[in-house]
Amino acid sequence: MRFDVVTIFPAMIQQALGAGIVSRAIERKTLNVVVHDLRDFTTDKHRVVDDMPYGGGPGMVLKPEPLFRALDAIEQLEESRPTVLLTSPQGTLLTQRVVERLGRQPRLVLLCGRYEGVDERVRSRVDEEISIGDYVLSGGELPALVIIDAVARMVPGVVGDEQSVAEDSFGRGLLDFPHYTRPAEVAGGTEGQTLRVPDVLMSGNHAEIRRWRKREALARTLARRPDLLATAELDDDERKLLRELTTRRDSQ
Ligand code: SAM
Repeated sequence: MRFDVVTIFPAMIQQALGAGIVSRAIERKTLNVVVHDLRDFTTDKHRVVDDMPYGGGPGMVLKPEPLFRALDAIEQLEESRPTVLLTSPQGTLLTQRVVERLGRQPRLVLLCGRYEGVDERVRSRVDEEISIGDYVLSGGELPALVIIDAVARMVPGVVGDEQSVAEDSFGRGLLDFPHYTRPAEVAGGTEGQTLRVPDVLMSGNHAEIRRWRKREALARTLARRPDLLATAELDDDERKLLRELTTRRDSQ
């Protein structure tokens, strides 16, 4: 899968992509992330990318022409037409379902806004605006990195163990179950308490462990994000466990 990122701060993207799972996928050529400096698409001596807003008011606006030139150049780099995304707090909220949908595209272009955002006419070349949450950041670079990281996890071969992706929170509409590692007992809880790993995880009984994990994932989702349960994909066993958990919660 290929990502093209257009930004006035290429180093922010390049640095963040230099470590971890995405970096290894780039090395293996499972992913291709190309970062474009918006200033390379200016034509003036000072490489100006922004200007004052028409109508007055505070802040600057990213000019349309450098962004149009960047898109023209990027579209010509490969035969297939890329899907162009504009990072924007006004866009579609990024959820796991949106991530899965974007992961089915072979090519994504990510435009990073700055200042007050991009000239409104740039939206005529954009397929979708994506927001990473209901808050305002100072630029689109962090949202672009969030999108790349989340979408990359959907690309076969990027995460070593595909089962772990399927079991992650939101994979089937549930939160993930709790995870533990060695040692089996550790001091350090509040007031020096010893904290133990649940016995079932050390029992070697895989059927019991599977059922415990299902139950914990359901209990967590019910406690923290009950809204997810309306659309979660549950098997018969999970539906039964959920009924038990709901009855117990309601009787408390
Ligand atoms: N004036 C804009 C508004 O209120 O909608 C906010 C502009 S913001 C300061 C600058 C840039 O940061 C935006 O153009 C966008 O690229 C990026 N940005 C900020 N918050 C974002 C969010 N929640 N999701 C995605 N991109 C965001």
